Amino acid sequence: MKKKVTQVVISGALGTALLLGGVAAPVGAVGEGPNYNGNETIKNERLHTYEEMVKFLKKIESRSNVAELEVYGQSVKSRDLYLVKFMSDPANPTILFLTQQHGNETLTTEGALKLIQHLSSNNKEVKEILSKVNVLIAPRLNVDGAEGDVNFSLDDYVSGTHTRYNANEADLNRDHLDLAQPETKAFHENILQKYNIDYLIDFHHQGALNTLGDSDQLVSGSILYPTNPQVDPAVVEKSKKLGAVLYNTVEARGFGTLSKYVGGTANNIGRNGIASQYNIATLLFEMRGMADHYRDDYVLGQKSNGYLIKQAVISMEAALKAIADGSIEEIDTSFWDSLPKSGKKGEE
Ligand SMILES: [Zn+2]
Repeated sequence: MKKKVTQVVISGALGTALLLGGVAAPVGAVGEGPNYNGNETIKNERLHTYEEMVKFLKKIESRSNVAELEVYGQSVKSRDLYLVKFMSDPANPTILFLTQQHGNETLTTEGALKLIQHLSSNNKEVKEILSKVNVLIAPRLNVDGAEGDVNFSLDDYVSGTHTRYNANEADLNRDHLDLAQPETKAFHENILQKYNIDYLIDFHHQGALNTLGDSDQLVSGSILYPTNPQVDPAVVEKSKKLGAVLYNTVEARGFGTLSKYVGGTANNIGRNGIASQYNIATLLFEMRGMADHYRDDYVLGQKSNGYLIKQAVISMEAALKAIADGSIEEIDTSFWDSLPKSGKKGEE
């Protein structure tokens, strides 16, 4: 197994060297090399590559009379950024699902693709929901980082295939005020400023070892509403309601436990900046573990992929149902006061 990991790392390093014109890139400041000695091989073959994702989205659009595909911008490396739209009535409330601002946080995009497939079906319940809520899905904002196609070395990553940062080594989830990167600029100008959006769920992955409070119990995810003081209290409350829908759904299924994410208040973070700039109710949802990272304790083998993808899908579906039937307005948010924080700080 270790041999396999080593091979992946070598091919990743060679790929990077080729990109950089054969010049050996310096190893990043963090990490001492690909010393992953866990008993999981890092296999990402179940995940959609960029090319596969685009092919999938185009197929969905060609077969569905409700799904509409829009290219809303391009990445640093000129990859098209796609928005999938299920819009029946502009007067309906609108929710936006955003995934993979960080390229190494992959399973949430797989969940989004499953949702897109589900919403494209002729299922009666789906039609009923889509007659009452508009759905926008922006899968994989960081398309270059997800391909490992970046202008810096991934030598110190466990598998060297995915990175948190975009091709310019910028953290897109710290660029929601400056909009200095093409991905975030396009996301704001061509989605947030163009559509009348009520809710946003921003899907991420965190470290694999976060616990429920001080207990030893590992969590399947963590959630948080906007915490910048500039955010309108009514928007915060609306965000807490969205969180309550997800919390109740994940806990009820019995396979997941959620904690309260320990996150910053800065407005350059999407959860905060989008809520304060556009009065959109936002929720951060961090799933357990990552596909690749320079910290091996952040990497989760693929044995957990299935349930984490499912956790994303049921959360998205629950949000749609609660908005469509209006139950989100009445939901009790008091659980937030007693929800244990994560036992380990992450980096949303
Ligand atoms: Zn993230």
